[in-house]
Amino acid sequence: MKLVIANWKMNKTLPEVRAFVETFSREIESVKNVTVGIAAPFPFLAAARDPQERWWVVGQDCSAEKSGAFTGEVSADMLASERCRAVLIGHSERRRHFGEGEEILAKKLTRAAEALLQPVLCVGETLAEREAGKTEAVLRRQLSIFSGAGAVAYEPVWAIGTGRNATPEEAEETMAFIARELSGKLDAPPILYGGSVTPDNAAGLVRCRSFAGFLVGGASLDPHTFSAICRSAG
Ligand code: PEP
Repeated sequence: MKLVIANWKMNKTLPEVRAFVETFSREIESVKNVTVGIAAPFPFLAAARDPQERWWVVGQDCSAEKSGAFTGEVSADMLASERCRAVLIGHSERRRHFGEGEEILAKKLTRAAEALLQPVLCVGETLAEREAGKTEAVLRRQLSIFSGAGAVAYEPVWAIGTGRNATPEEAEETMAFIARELSGKLDAPPILYGGSVTPDNAAGLVRCRSFAGFLVGGASLDPHTFSAICRSAG
C-alpha cells in the first residue's frame, strides 16, 4: 500500500474544503492500493474528514508541548482526538519560517508517538546545500532524531512550490541514501517524495525503487488533480 498525503498548507476556506470533499468523495472510488491523507489546516480537520473514513485526516504540525499555557498551539493529543491518523513534522516551511531545528522536532516526534499519531518526518536539503555537496550530511542530521516509526518524506527544498521537481534519478539516489541511513531502525519506514509533484511527473517518480508515496502541496488543492496523482501511485 502506498501513502499519498495532500498538504494544503494555509489554503482554503470552509466552503472550499466542503466543495473539495464533495468532489473527492467521488474521485476516491477510483484510487486503488493507496492510503490517502489530507493535511488540512487545523480549523478544518473535521470538515476534511471522510464520514466513511476512506482517507485519513493529517495534522500539518503539532506542538512540542503536551498541553498548557501555549496560546495558539495545537497539541498531538488534540489532533488524535480529532481522529487524525498522522502528523507532518519538520516541514521545510516550519524549519525556514519558524526556525524549527532538531531539538524542537525531536520533542514533536515524542508528542506524536505518545498520541499514537504516525509522524511523517519531512527532510530535505536546500539548493545551496546540494550545490555545496552537503546533501548527505544535512539529511543525516535531520534523520538523526527519527526513531523508526511512521514515515519519512524526502522533500528537496529547491523543489517545493518551485515547479522544479527532482528527476526520478535524483529522487532515487537520495531516497536510497535515506533508506540506508534508516536501515538500522526497527522497521523500514516508507519514504515519500515531495516537491512539485503533478499528474504529469508522478508516473516517472513512481518507478523509483525506494518510492512509497507522495507528499503533495500545490497540486493537492484541486480534487481532480490530486486524485490523478493518487491513482498514479497505486
Ligand atoms: C509540500 O509542501 O510538501 C510540497 C511538496 O509542495 P509542492 O508540491 O507545492 O512543491
